Parts: sequence; structure tokens; C-alpha cells
Amino acid sequence: MTMIAVLRIGHRIDRDKRVTTHVALVARAFGADIIYITTKDEKIKKNIQSVCIRFGGNFQVQTGVDHKNIIKSWKGSIVHLTMYGEELEKAINHLDTNRDLLIIVGAEKVPPYFYEIADINVSVGNQPHSEVAALALFLDRFTKAAWQKKEFDGNIQIIPCVKGKKVLSKEKA
Ligand code: SAM
Repeated sequence: MTMIAVLRIGHRIDRDKRVTTHVALVARAFGADIIYITTKDEKIKKNIQSVCIRFGGNFQVQTGVDHKNIIKSWKGSIVHLTMYGEELEKAINHLDTNRDLLIIVGAEKVPPYFYEIADINVSVGNQPHSEVAALALFLDRFTKAAWQKKEFDGNIQIIPCVKGKKVLSKEKA
């Protein structure tokens, strides 16, 4: 089994908490196994863990990580999502799906180091938008939409329906 990890760099506790939470939720829902957040932020960690407890899966969160240690010890491929990178479709064709993958996403201005260490800088279009959108689209294309079939086996399961809400819950009322 290959592993997909997301490395969130530049998270500022006051400014970026919602966006980083959304990056983590997208990572979990769309097929990643772990998110590394360089800034120590226990609150985000707790929020995501609480989603995992209720909705299932084995998604992991680590905050306060040293990005250089993660990158140095990474044995698989590394991509960096940036509007300056290679076209999404071309980049995906160059990636070996049998290797682990580390996906780097920024917040504020990204230092040149990350552009250099990435095996491929990947653009999701060449317009500036959002790390949340870029990650979602990248994971959808990389997994060939396999994320949709992933079973989370959580305490809460949502049954798709056209109207209203159908929820199966193992939680105590
Ligand atoms: N101004 C920053 C810079 O120049 O590096 C980028 C800020 S942007 C709001 C935050 C992150 O969203 C980027 O670091 C990148 O990971 C992602 N992003 C934004 N637009 C993107 C695009 N078109 N393709 C891929 N990633 C994108």
C-alpha cells in the first residue's frame, strides 16, 4: 500500500486556522493518509482528530514538524502545488502511483527551497486560487477519483439522499 502525505507549510495560527483545517479535511476525504503541519497547533489537531473519531478512517495529523526532517527522510516522490508549476495532467502522467507521495502546499509566500526540492512543481491552472482547491483537484486526478469509494467505517455514516438528511449513527444519543 502506498502512502499519500500532505505537508502544510507557513500556517499562521491566527490567520490560517480555517484554511489549514480545510486543507486537512480535504486531505482526509480525498485519499491522503496523513497531514504534517509545520506550525505547532494543538487546536487544529484536536478538531481533525474529533472528525476522525466521528466519521472514521485512520487519517493522522502531526503539527510542529520540521519540514526539512520530513523531506530528508521521505523515500517517495515529492510534489509542490504552485500556480507556476507543470500542467496538472502532464505532471500526473510523470508520477509513479506505486511510490509514496508527499504533496507540499503553501500559505503565504513559499521560499525557493520548496520549488527546488520538489520532484515536480505542479500547477492546477495558472491562476492564483487556493491550496484547498488545488489539493482537492490534485488528489482527485492523482487517485483517478478512487477516493469516492473509500470506506471510512465511522460512528457516523451519511446515506446519500436527494432530500433531507439520512444519517446512521453508532453514537449514544
Ligand atoms: N502568494 C503565494 C506565493 O506566491 O507562493 C501563494 C499563496 S496561495 C493563497 C497558497 C497556496 O495555494 C500556494 O502555496 C499553493 O500551494 C496553492 N495554490 C494556489 N493557486 C494554485 C494553483 N493555481 N495551482 C497550484 N497550487 C495553487
